[in-house]
Amino acid sequence: MSAQRTEITPELDDYINEHFSAEDEFLAGLKRQGLMLKIPDIQITADQARFLQFLLISIGAKRVLEIGTLGGYSAIAMARALPEDGKVITLESNNLHYSYALEKVDEAGLSHKIELFHGFAIDYLNSYNSNELLDLVFMDADKSNLIKYTEICTPLLRKGGIIAVDNAFALGNLTVENPEFDETHKHRIKDVYAVREFNMWIKNNPNYFTSLLTIGDGLLLAVKL
Ligand code: SAH
Ligand code: MG
Repeated sequence: MSAQRTEITPELDDYINEHFSAEDEFLAGLKRQGLMLKIPDIQITADQARFLQFLLISIGAKRVLEIGTLGGYSAIAMARALPEDGKVITLESNNLHYSYALEKVDEAGLSHKIELFHGFAIDYLNSYNSNELLDLVFMDADKSNLIKYTEICTPLLRKGGIIAVDNAFALGNLTVENPEFDETHKHRIKDVYAVREFNMWIKNNPNYFTSLLTIGDGLLLAVKL
């Protein structure tokens, strides 16, 4: 055994997906049908979903906030790991994504556990006035607001609560000196810089203890001290 990281070969990936995945027929169908409606294939991976479920169960989570619903893949996976009186509040600004997710949450029989908000995350957060603290915040939307979202969410999160941030590897570009994207994806360059800045900001934030998980496109975890 060496101290080197094991490469995830396609065979290992298949093994993980076969045995340690949160994806069932319903979630696979959600992805497939979403693609036909031109909803992008950018949800978390099946093993990330399983890991988020694991986290929620470990910390006894009841109240989760998600920024970035897309078609509801991650929200549905997380809601399934909560007790019957648990809740995922999920925020989505895109009309098509929002209405598709609404339909899928209903179809999944999870309308009582998942509350969808249609609009910009910042507007929801600025008007949040519940006195129930959050157990976990999953950030998976616009990268340039990660610091702002964390600042707003910190007082809303219980001690021992977790902030989980997807795409901590910046679509694989975290350490690429001059990241390049084609014309249609050029806007992603600023996301790369935003992710780099956020990772260092949260790592140096005395309110949190952090860890970077090499799963999917990188999952940054920060527990509130
Ligand atoms: N968490 C989802 C994937 C989210 S993809 C899953 O794993 O299934 C990112 C989503 O964030 C997109 O649907 C996009 O429309 C939404 N989004 C981007 N910026 C946003 C903002 N400022 N407020 C709310 N939603 C936003
Ligand atoms: Mg993501």
